[in-house]
Amino acid sequence: MTDSNRPVHQAPSCDDDYQPDTLSVEAAWDRILQDVSPVHGSERLPVRSALGRILDQDIHSTVNVPYSDNSAMDGYALRGVDLPSQGDADLRVVATSLAGHPYEKTLQAGESLRIMTGAPMPAGADTVIPQEKVERDGDTIRIDSTHRAGQNVRAAGEDLAVGDCVLSAGTRVGIAELGMLGSLGLVEVSCRRRIRVAYFSTGDELRSAGAALGPGDVYDSNRYTLHAVLAELGVEATDMGVIPDEPAAMEQAFSDAASFADAILTSGGVSVGEADFVKDIMQRLGEVGFWKIAMRPGRPLAFGKIGQAQFFGMPGNPVSVVATWCQFVKPALRRLMGERISRPLSFRVRAAHALRKRRGRTEFQRGILERNADGELLVRTTGGQGSGILSSVSLANCFIVLPHDADAVAEGEFVEVQPFHGVMS
Ligand code: AMP
Ligand code: MG
Repeated sequence: MTDSNRPVHQAPSCDDDYQPDTLSVEAAWDRILQDVSPVHGSERLPVRSALGRILDQDIHSTVNVPYSDNSAMDGYALRGVDLPSQGDADLRVVATSLAGHPYEKTLQAGESLRIMTGAPMPAGADTVIPQEKVERDGDTIRIDSTHRAGQNVRAAGEDLAVGDCVLSAGTRVGIAELGMLGSLGLVEVSCRRRIRVAYFSTGDELRSAGAALGPGDVYDSNRYTLHAVLAELGVEATDMGVIPDEPAAMEQAFSDAASFADAILTSGGVSVGEADFVKDIMQRLGEVGFWKIAMRPGRPLAFGKIGQAQFFGMPGNPVSVVATWCQFVKPALRRLMGERISRPLSFRVRAAHALRKRRGRTEFQRGILERNADGELLVRTTGGQGSGILSSVSLANCFIVLPHDADAVAEGEFVEVQPFHGVMS
């Protein structure tokens, strides 16, 4: 859209940084996910080794889970037809059945079975009365008329039935999934192969841990951040160190990385107008677009392919690395790994105080979600939001996502937040 045919309400003004070649966060997300497709290759793995891996085939249940009807309580199994509709009834206790020790006979009229949680229901019985609801006297129990037939029984297959698609291809095997695979009695599953990711930092000012700092120097933090996120994602990561801002060194590093990696991640040197030789190298080695994304932090992003490798050139500022990782690079790598993905979970809460924001870009401010004295969930800022202030990330437990067209937020207004962690990650 050219400036002349932009609707008036979208026309750029002095206080937004609208640029015609800038992509919205949504458009960048769509383009990245369109361009990235899963790596080829899979392997069969013992179930425990599949933790953190992506299933490449649907898993169908070959058993009922639970395998047979069983008791949900410690109590007495009986025939529902023996329940009194009024007054009390006495039943004879014929035996005891523990989990793993079925009662082999059929329960007859007037009989009950002492049964423990998880023990299979005996033939004939369809109801369990919890032990605290009966009066027991020797071999007899007395029950009243407050019970219903069918109570406290877990039905065979109520969790998973034979033939059910339990987990579909593209599912990441996490805590729940590993338990599910275990419940099916599987020995091995087929998973997508691990992806290989090479990463390095760029910048003449970067120093490694242990080295002394001179004026203008900074310790390289981005390689630590990337080490952490890649380890958590479960990829084969190769740290290629710090590459100086020199064309020959860069070109060498890119070709080395492209020779073995499925994806290459770099930080620094992608700002507009800066280090133009990076663009030249990219154009020679592959197909890479230099994007400006209407977001803060994290505006510049180089995205494309170098040889067979998917390339992500992230900005150098440490908070920008975190933001572009979370919003684009991580979803793209998950896709490359063969995982089915969706937009990050978010929800709306009230802002504890006013928040500054400029129209014309999506802002990922760092926030702290907490309850006030009345128990209401509110979000407040971590303070300074500069893209070099990495402490804002460690203080935060969420992103406050302020949409493209919004401007400043007033105290008490609803804002969208993306929590960093869940209860079961
Ligand atoms: P650049 O994108 O290369 O222009 O870098 C932007 C800012 O981020 C500069 O202040 C850099 O010094 C800083 N920076 C770049 N890479 C790193 C890194 N690996 N660790 C810490 N700061 C960095
Ligand atoms: Mg730099």
